[in-house]
Amino acid sequence: MSGVRAGQWWCNTHGAVTPHRGGVVPACPACGIAVLQAVNDGAKLVYREPAPERCAGIEKHPLRPGRVLLGWTACLCNPNGGHRSWQCAECDDVQIWPPHSIVDDKPYFGPGHNDAWRSTG
Ligand SMILES: [Zn+2]
Ligand SMILES: [Zn+2]
Ligand SMILES: [Zn+2]
Repeated sequence: MSGVRAGQWWCNTHGAVTPHRGGVVPACPACGIAVLQAVNDGAKLVYREPAPERCAGIEKHPLRPGRVLLGWTACLCNPNGGHRSWQCAECDDVQIWPPHSIVDDKPYFGPGHNDAWRSTG
């Protein structure tokens, strides 16, 4: 993981990427799994897992630390081997990423999908 700067997004399979932002959390445009963001923690660089800012319930509660229940469901439909889930402590709304799909259904994010996602930095 050398050469990664703070603020860059990282896929464990594809390296530094420009994330696709149409989903619950920023995702790798190539494989669709949630990407990690490199952030400065004092002097060292750490990788932080993104989380949705708000629940998807009617009231859109902010998912602040302590107000969201983090979960994991094992599943073979994606390269991560499961789904991260965020449950709102106010209304019990649950969001998951990546979306559940039938096996062999590869992620596709629209026309012109190509290698342009590769970060040039
Ligand atoms: Zn990837
Ligand atoms: Zn809520
Ligand atoms: Zn699944």
